[in-house]
Parts: sequence; structure tokens; C-alpha cells
Amino acid sequence: MNALLITVLAVLLSLAALAAFVSGRRVIRDDGRLRLLEMMQRRGAALPEPLSEPAVRNQAHALRVCVTCPNKDLCDEWLRGSRTGDSYAFCPNTHYIEQLRQGRLAFNRV
Ligand code: SF4
Repeated sequence: MNALLITVLAVLLSLAALAAFVSGRRVIRDDGRLRLLEMMQRRGAALPEPLSEPAVRNQAHALRVCVTCPNKDLCDEWLRGSRTGDSYAFCPNTHYIEQLRQGRLAFNRV
């Protein structure tokens, strides 16, 4: 029983160490560039005018998603044009950007 418990603890510690390593590498490799704006420009998307509080909140949410995005390498490839296809496969903000581009986001006035 103790051997099983020790094995389970060892596996859990290994997984935690691996997660910390991957997370640390992601932070170290991050150059701090805000790719969301580049992606919006590339797709021809812009914030609605006049700007409303809901629009700002949605943009703030998209920025938070972008800052913590694990796919920055794929994003850079796509922005450089060395990756074909749309960005739905790797960018969690693609739907938001496409809605902005098509002017289909309905922002409630406050
Ligand atoms: S792929 Fe990630 S880093 Fe690039 S724009 Fe989308 S959310 Fe931001």
C-alpha cells in the first residue's frame, strides 16, 4: 500500500514539475509582443465606433486571452505568412476577431 502511495505521489510530483517547466518556458520565451492587434490588422478587424463599455470589456477579455495564449509560436508563423489556412485552429480569439471584422458584434449601450 505504501509503495502504491509513493508511486502515485511521485507521478503527481513529476506532472507538477513538468507543468511548471512548460509554464516557465512559455513565460521566458514570451517577448511581450501584443499579437492580438497584429492579428486584427491582418484580418482587417477594428473596434466598433463609437466605443462602448461592453466593447472595451470584450477587447480587454480578448487581450487577457492573448497574453496567456500558449500558441504564440503558431501565431508568429501565421502572421509571417509561413502558415496556411485560417487561424481557427490555434487562435482562441479568432471568432471574436471575425465578429469584429464582419461588424456583427452587438454591443449593448450602457
Ligand atoms: S493566436 Fe494567441 S497570441 Fe496570437 S492573436 Fe490569437 S490569442 Fe493572441
